[in-house]
Amino acid sequence: MKFPFGILIIASLLSACNHTQETTSAYSLKSGGEMPSSQQGLNVKHADLGFTIKPDQQIIDGVTTLTLMTTTPRKSFSVDLDRVFHISEVLVNGQVLAPELYSNPDGMLLVKQAVSGEFTVTIKYNGQPRVPVRAPWDGGLMWEKTPNGADWIATAVQGEGCDLFWPCIDHPSGEPTKVDLHINVPKPLVAASNGVLLNVTDEGATRTYHWQTKSLHNTYGIALNIAPYELLETKFTSVYGNSLDIQFFHLPERTEKAKILFAEIPEMINFFERMIGPYPFGQEKVGIAETPHLGMEHQTINAYGNEYKKDQFGYDWLMQHEFAHEWFGNQLTNDDWDHMWLHEGFGSYMQPLFAQYLHGDLAYKANLAKQRTGIVSKSPLVSNQVREVEQVYQHDTGPGGDIYTKGSWVLHTLRYLIGDDAFFKATKQLVYGTTDPQPGNFTPVFKNSADFVNIVNTITGKDMSWFFDVYLYQADLPKLVVDRKDDAITVQWEIENNKPFHMPVELSINGKITTLDLTKPVTLAINKMDVVILDPNSKILKYDQHIVDFQNFRKEQSAKK
Ligand SMILES: [Zn+2]
Repeated sequence: MKFPFGILIIASLLSACNHTQETTSAYSLKSGGEMPSSQQGLNVKHADLGFTIKPDQQIIDGVTTLTLMTTTPRKSFSVDLDRVFHISEVLVNGQVLAPELYSNPDGMLLVKQAVSGEFTVTIKYNGQPRVPVRAPWDGGLMWEKTPNGADWIATAVQGEGCDLFWPCIDHPSGEPTKVDLHINVPKPLVAASNGVLLNVTDEGATRTYHWQTKSLHNTYGIALNIAPYELLETKFTSVYGNSLDIQFFHLPERTEKAKILFAEIPEMINFFERMIGPYPFGQEKVGIAETPHLGMEHQTINAYGNEYKKDQFGYDWLMQHEFAHEWFGNQLTNDDWDHMWLHEGFGSYMQPLFAQYLHGDLAYKANLAKQRTGIVSKSPLVSNQVREVEQVYQHDTGPGGDIYTKGSWVLHTLRYLIGDDAFFKATKQLVYGTTDPQPGNFTPVFKNSADFVNIVNTITGKDMSWFFDVYLYQADLPKLVVDRKDDAITVQWEIENNKPFHMPVELSINGKITTLDLTKPVTLAINKMDVVILDPNSKILKYDQHIVDFQNFRKEQSAKK
């Protein structure tokens, strides 16, 4: 997801009206965090998801069969499903359960049935999924209309989780190994989803689209995108030599604009493959669906809702950002939401990096300058505690938007400190678990911040903990304290908790650059007339009073409005 700069996220607890009169519980609104004991030790081997979409009534009929593996025999288990749905039947291993054997008072569907080893649970349910107030910043299923008045339906559930529209284990570790989706929609609507389209069954007034994905899959990345879509499609040979299917499901009234955006995709793929590594899901597709919300990193079917806007950087930043998540988010997944900066920081750094790749340093730094004004640094980027998504998005008690902006700037700073060779090697190792990824020699990986620190230490052969201790694990940005007198200048780092910080700093005197080793304060003789610039090439993320002043001014202005 892309963070809305300058706008406070209001996590709305409002829920849609529905026939059961229930509202989404606090349990369903959270995603991740502590897992209930009734779900621990369960692995999701396969999710078979059937949806009948009824736009007239704004309801869905769902039939989900999960193939689960339990590490130990158990007397009961649970899966997550929003209580707004009426559950008509639950089956375990194909046997219908008596209604008293299951209950779902608060969104944790508890099934009292002894199971061991591999087993299946089938849940038949129906109702109106939560309607988001401001997707994608709050989750659910949107029932919108296209400009021409056709039905336009989309899901976005990153913050609240998969349980808003299908029974799942709403936790990063709940990723199903394989997913089949059978999406039944009235004609002429088209259902675009994850993975590969196996077939379309014609049932007269409706059609069922059977999509299948065999890649490990973020649960919030499973998505329904429904509209009278038209499809732009091509085959593209990647720089690694494999053939990629590119599919862009767009609204029919926007064909001409969609064609222009579609033409941007191959170079975007080249960029990621040259800088980071192979497109992770080449066996399936490069997929994009036009959505009524801004965007979301739905695996192999990225949501695009930027309305084909142009900016000074010469590419569609939203599409590029969401596409970056195929590497940072979908191939590499944080093992807990606490490390979400690995998704969003890398995901956001890809925009300046792409601008540099296309147009050089001016575009790179202009893009970074824009991100710099969003850094708040009130809380550490990483808390080293188990976190729910919404806790990470809190501005006061969590990092909030810093996971995007500060994350990106930490990477910018790291890149210049350790050099391109080590930086991109470390990135590859993080994303693929190898520095030599080739199509077919890797599968999705789960990693956290400490893993990245270890990777950087190994690749550089140095202990870089001092860098990450300051930038990830405490809030205050390092501050350069400068004391300029007529004949001398003294420069030193001021660091929260007096942590060690061995960051060298460039200093330009009348255009001549020297690098200061600032492990201790440095004093240089200067002339009264000398023009002195610290960090003249803007390589380091540090405290900047003028940015704080600007942020405060902006806050005052928006408070007045
Ligand atoms: Zn994002």
